[in-house]
Formats: sequence, C-alpha cells, structure tokens
Amino acid sequence: MKEYVIGIDVGGTRIQLGLFKGSEIIAEKQFLTDKEIGATEMMDLLANRVRKLAAASGLTLEDIRGVGASFPSYVDYEKGLCVETSNIMSLNDQPVRDMLRERLGVPVYVDNDGNLAALAEHELGAGRGYDNLIYAELSTGIGGGLILNGKLYRGMHGMAGEIGHMLVSDSIGYPCGCGVIGCVQSISSGLYMARFAMDRIKEGEESRILDYAGTISNIDTLAVGRALNVNDPLALEVVNRGAEYLGRMFHNLNQIFDINVFVYGGGVTNLGHRFIDRMIAAYRHHSLMDQKYPAKFLAAELGHRASLVGAALMVR
Ligand SMILES: [Zn+2]
Repeated sequence: MKEYVIGIDVGGTRIQLGLFKGSEIIAEKQFLTDKEIGATEMMDLLANRVRKLAAASGLTLEDIRGVGASFPSYVDYEKGLCVETSNIMSLNDQPVRDMLRERLGVPVYVDNDGNLAALAEHELGAGRGYDNLIYAELSTGIGGGLILNGKLYRGMHGMAGEIGHMLVSDSIGYPCGCGVIGCVQSISSGLYMARFAMDRIKEGEESRILDYAGTISNIDTLAVGRALNVNDPLALEVVNRGAEYLGRMFHNLNQIFDINVFVYGGGVTNLGHRFIDRMIAAYRHHSLMDQKYPAKFLAAELGHRASLVGAALMVR
C-alpha cells in the first residue's frame, strides 16, 4: 500500500497543500487564492502544485495513494461536484473531482471544509474518543460538520452540517448569501458581527472599537476583541448578541440529534473566553436537558490545518 497522501484545502483567502505520510504532515505549501480564476485554470494550477509538492520531497505521483481536496462550498461528495460556492464563482457546478483525477491520474476525493474539519477534529483533534459530536467553524462565515455514530454524516446531497444557515431569528440579522435574513451566520459570523458594530458606530455610537480599527470600514472581530478587553460597552453588546444566537444554534442542534459534544474552531473564537463563556451560557439557558447531561464545549485543536488534515484522512 502506498503510504503518501496529498491534501488540498482551497480556502477563500489561501490555498494550502500538505504531503502526508500516514496522518503526519511532512511537507506543506500555501499560496493566495485567485478568486477570479476560471475552473479549468484552477484545476491546472492545483495539479501543478500537487506535482511540485511531491517532487520537492523526491516523490512522483506514482508514490501517492490519492489526493483529498477541500472546497469552501456546498459539495456533492458522491458525484464529486462543487455545487455552490460564494467564494470562487467559477467552481459552481463543476465536476472538480473528475477534473483533478484527469490531470493527476490518482484517486481523488472532494468534500467541503466544514465536513473535513469535523472529520479531522474527530480523529486527531479535540473530538478524539467521541462517537458523536458536532463541529462548528466560527469564522468569517459559520460552517460545520456532524459526526454520528463514529462517522461523518453527509446527508442526502452531501450538504449536512451547514449549520450556519439555521434560521434563529425573524427580527434581526443581515441578508445572507443563503437567501434568508436571520440565519445564525447573518448575525453571529465574524463578517456580520463586524457589520453590526460598523452600523452602530455609523449611527453615532462612540466606541473604542473604532480606535482599534482606525476607520469604520476596517472594523473586524479583532478590533471588537481588543475593545472588549477594555470593557467597551458596544464591544460587549456585539459579542453578547453574537453569542446568544450561537447558543440557540447549539441548542437546536442538541434538540435534533441529542448530541452534546460541541467542538468549536475558527477565527471568531479569538474573541476570547468572555465570548465563549457567553455562548455556552446561552446554550445552557435554553437547554432543558443540560442539568442532567451537561454539554461539553471543546476548543478545536488543529487550527487552520483542520480541513487540510481532513482532506488527507478522506483518502483512506
Ligand atoms: Zn445564511
């Protein structure tokens, strides 16, 4: 059995590649994503980078068992399609698995970033030892993945675990790419928490957030987090509002699946323990069963490599 596997994580900002021996990463490269690139050019580029990564370790594609690729999209795992992506528009409806396989001549598997991060955290990260867990990626957007009975659950079309578009409010939120206002992503994602802070400051609210961001258009969760550390009232409001709706999201998930192991990762968690504590408190407030069966909220351990590691794990 060939022992080398290559993982690819196509992100909205950067593309990471990793050469794995077993589950250990032995070489790694990353470069910036060109979101305007056509699908054919993108696949040519990925195939080229895969060859180069192997060659840099003295290997050829003959030595590679397979390639796993993660895309920031709805992915139909069975058919190998990128169904819908908000980042790299040219990939919509493209048979990315077959396109890569034609170019590389090795088995190729594709899935979305949330599912693969869930798989990686389940096998090698914070979720080790739990047969049932829900992974939540709290980032610019909100995504996730479900591990049910020890396996990644993909649903009927490969789109299970898209927890960010769960409808949690009909009174607040911004219009989301999914077509609704009031999904948890439209309230609690990094993008829309920052947008809420911007709007409040535009309306005349004074806040240290603006001092840390420099300009209104530069406001991000980093600036919110720094203002939170000096007890800025608006930062506290932004964070509490985001955390409340995440708590509702986890509560709804618990009601459906009777799973109370939640692994959370992503850049928004850098807001720190006050944000996380508030999110957990919101969950516990809503959950009837939490006193009897207290939920475990576990910080993800694999960081920005989670989807990349999951992509490699998928090749087995
Ligand atoms: Zn949405």
